[in-house]
Amino acid sequence: MAGALLDQYFTLKAKSGDALLFFRLGDFYELFADDALLVSNLLGITLTQRSNTPMCGVPHHASESYIAKLVQLGYKVAVAEQVHKPEKGIAERAIVEVISPATAVARGASLLSNQANYMISFYQYKEHLAVALLDVARGDFLFAHALVDTLSEQVIAYLYRYGIVEMAVEKKLWSSLPELQRYCKEQGIIVNLLDEWHFVNPNAVKLLQKHFHVNDLSGFGLNPYERYLGVATALLVYLQGQLNDTLVHISSLRLVLQEEQLWMDHSSFRNLEITHNQQDGGDAYTLLKVLNQTCTVLGARKLREVVVTPLQNLSILQARQARIEQFYQSSDLLKPLREELKGIYDLERLNTKIMLSKAHAKDFIALAKSLQRVANMRGLRSDFTLMEAELATIAQMLAIKIFSTLMDEPSTEIQSGGVIRAGFDDKLDSLRDLAEHSRERLEAYAQQEREACGVPLRLKENRQLGWFFEVNKAHIAKLDTRFVRRQSVVGGERYITMELKELEERIASAHEEAVELERALFAQLREDLLEYFSALQEIAQEIADIDLFSSLANVAIERQYVRPQLKASGLLRIDGGRHPIVEHYSERPFVANDVHFADEHRLLLITGPNMAGKSTYLRMSALIVYMAHLGMFVPARSAEIPICDRIFCRVGASDNLSRGQSTFLVEMSETARILHYASSRSLVIVDEVGRGTGSDDGLAIARAILEHLALKTRSFTLFATHYHELTALRIAGYKNISLRVIENGEEIFFTNEIMDGAASGSYGLHVARMAGIPPIVLARAKTYLIQLDGLKGSDVDFVVDSVDVSPKEEELFSKEEILSSQILNFNLEQQTPLEAMQFLAKLQK
Ligand code: ADP
Repeated sequence: MAGALLDQYFTLKAKSGDALLFFRLGDFYELFADDALLVSNLLGITLTQRSNTPMCGVPHHASESYIAKLVQLGYKVAVAEQVHKPEKGIAERAIVEVISPATAVARGASLLSNQANYMISFYQYKEHLAVALLDVARGDFLFAHALVDTLSEQVIAYLYRYGIVEMAVEKKLWSSLPELQRYCKEQGIIVNLLDEWHFVNPNAVKLLQKHFHVNDLSGFGLNPYERYLGVATALLVYLQGQLNDTLVHISSLRLVLQEEQLWMDHSSFRNLEITHNQQDGGDAYTLLKVLNQTCTVLGARKLREVVVTPLQNLSILQARQARIEQFYQSSDLLKPLREELKGIYDLERLNTKIMLSKAHAKDFIALAKSLQRVANMRGLRSDFTLMEAELATIAQMLAIKIFSTLMDEPSTEIQSGGVIRAGFDDKLDSLRDLAEHSRERLEAYAQQEREACGVPLRLKENRQLGWFFEVNKAHIAKLDTRFVRRQSVVGGERYITMELKELEERIASAHEEAVELERALFAQLREDLLEYFSALQEIAQEIADIDLFSSLANVAIERQYVRPQLKASGLLRIDGGRHPIVEHYSERPFVANDVHFADEHRLLLITGPNMAGKSTYLRMSALIVYMAHLGMFVPARSAEIPICDRIFCRVGASDNLSRGQSTFLVEMSETARILHYASSRSLVIVDEVGRGTGSDDGLAIARAILEHLALKTRSFTLFATHYHELTALRIAGYKNISLRVIENGEEIFFTNEIMDGAASGSYGLHVARMAGIPPIVLARAKTYLIQLDGLKGSDVDFVVDSVDVSPKEEELFSKEEILSSQILNFNLEQQTPLEAMQFLAKLQK
């Protein structure tokens, strides 16, 4: 027996691939052999033995939390259940689902964050990259297509933006992408390798048509991409297999149009700290964080999706602006509306759970509470229609239906009943009544018989007879024929009646019947809701939008953001712009600055000392333009933004260093991308290009890049540099601006204000002094600066003035250093032979 069981286990284990196998045995899931050793260690559960094989187990009813932990640790879990119980021998078992980050939420283990939970698949079809993304928990399925340029980079951009947790990829392709492999390893992304046929499936189109119940895919706009849809079916079929479910709730494939998107490469996206900060990769101090005032999980996810997908489509952007504006104008509405929103649960995931029969009664109550809030919104006064009346009516109707069917606090275990509300179903009520009041019922019946026949009947129970009446000998004669004698006892007899036995049976089965009936009523409720599945999905989308736009309006009101004027073409102009993140976190007021481009100068060359605010100005400009391409209001007094095709943001390359690439190489490859792809409709932000190499090389490269951007691509460019030489170029197409610095004797003060013209000096020594570099070192630095540049030192006079004594050379340098510097600095050509002799003699002393 044990042998057969283990054989069955190992057969299934072979099928489970790289997943841990949870093998159902009675009330436990057992793990054996290597899985047992690993899991007992990971979860700290006791290891035992069965037929010399290591074994450990977790109770079935508590398995969810164990599975959750394992999935969080990066493992997949295959669950094997009994599927068939034969007359003899052991029960047949099969893997019923495989739980991984991508499938976990649908199961109900609320172990992952509230974020979208996309799994990705991608494939290269000649020069085309096709990508599919599927969030099972919400039934959201996307398809995107692009031309291949740097495949690993392109895929990483998706992984990063969508916060991908799991991937399905073709084996050969995967082995050709070491950079992607490294990234997935670093990020702990689970990778599932599939065979090629999945991706080049000739039946892909048919399969999707069948799944969506349509005759062709034109409704989804997918016709031009039919050749690449294997990437979508690969993912769908894979997940269907993992969950052992047809996933009917996935009811469309959304096309993400690349040409509608504003294109931004992965490093620009990172540099702008849109969703992750550069320090620790967390979400603090990011654009997403400062914009997020959503009240629901639905809204928060929608916001994230919007924030990572800047668009070029003017009409979509203007429609978003208009919706924010509506809420902005009805500011009275915001407070009560946000109160209602706060009571709305994750409708998308609730809908999915209900559809996949993974929902318990508490989920239904959460749905009803949410729908009630949705219905309540009808009562809020607003000057525009919040939501279609029909949807609100459905929400109200379904809320009432669920509340009237289920208890306020139902059990999550339908097996033991305790779910359906009293008063909902007469039959259930009487069954429950019977089950709960059995003794009273029997007593009542006994009393009825006593009165009918005038005999003192004693109601009793034993194992042999069940319930019976005991009657004293003296009264026996009075009993009628309905009383059937069953046992004699001293001084009396024991009787039963048909009615008594029937009652007894009814009582015995009442509990089971009640539970069975509850189950049926609950299933019926689910059936009834399924009819409204698409309306429920629509409500979820509406709420996500309402939350998104109203919260953005709230942000705009609180922080004085304005609606930028978007236009198809023309010049970029920001008046009184502020940095949304710095402004939000900084204690001191933010100094607003303008960004003005003109046809004669589409490149602004920015100089100014360190700490003056150059990079803040650059990032502010990029972020405002970026936000405008999300359809949002922006932190400025006013702004006119032409639709851009791309934003490039090349600032520092610190985070690539950990991946072992040289700073200069990274800098140059990022710059190369800009020079290849930037157009006159692009915004280009360049900070300190050329710094990673020697100063002559660097200057030369920076100059060539500047000229290319100003004269050739004519992109809107903000170019910050340390190379003062660039400020004096005699070329058209650029203008010098700088950050105003106020000098007051020895002090300098950064105003953070942009002004026309190049910076007058670099103030490096001032900054060094402000940072606490000791005066003695500053004095030396000044001496060298004068030597190097032949400067008269006007810029650094204060440094010397403020030092009482120049340090003695010998205090700072070794003898050898002083000697060698004296020899090197001795100018042989300008000295007579005698002078040279004297110099040598001096050195010898
Ligand atoms: P730089 O790039 O010139 O070295 P930064 O942009 O890093 O300077 O700015 C230096 C500091 O000044 C930062 O702490 C920044 O938050 C602050 N800062 C910059 N610009 C402004 C501004 N316009 N208003 C307020 N603070 C600013």
